[in-house]
Amino acid sequence: MSMEKTLVILKPSAVQRKLVGEITSRFERKGLRLAGMKMMQLTDELLNEHYAHLANKPFFTRVKASMMASPVIACCYEGVDAVQVVRSMTGSTNGRAAAPGTIRGDYSVSGQENIVHTSDSPQNAEEELKRFFKPEELFDYRLASLPYLYSCDE
Ligand code: ADP
Repeated sequence: MSMEKTLVILKPSAVQRKLVGEITSRFERKGLRLAGMKMMQLTDELLNEHYAHLANKPFFTRVKASMMASPVIACCYEGVDAVQVVRSMTGSTNGRAAAPGTIRGDYSVSGQENIVHTSDSPQNAEEELKRFFKPEELFDYRLASLPYLYSCDE
């Protein structure tokens, strides 16, 4: 069984709109294992790394300010193909275009204030988890429900 870990950040838009419970319960109900979770205040320095691929965009400064507007909740979820599973639950970037049933499609009407960040590839997930969590903040306990989540050859 090849387990993958991925990063989810509940953005200030989720915290301020009191959607933390709603969003985390979706990942719980899906069957993902919560490997780590913490509240943190993001900094300009960390966001310069995290959003380096947006450095040349006109909205770069604005997006960083939006991510620092309140503390966020950083979560690490684990499962088979967890990066793709979480990404498909997230929906497309702009909440107005995101499909109903996805997190952004159900809770966001904005391109910027779109509730969650989720890693978009296994390689980025690995790098991002190192950036947001110390090794001792991620926990490798076994889910008792594992035999009811996957078949033995998954
Ligand atoms: P995603 O979060 O879907 O992986 P990106 O990595 O392209 O998307 O963008 C990172 C974040 O920057 C988005 O989640 C969103 O908050 C913000 N963003 C992206 N595009 C725009 C835009 N055109 N206008 C305002 N904010 C944007």
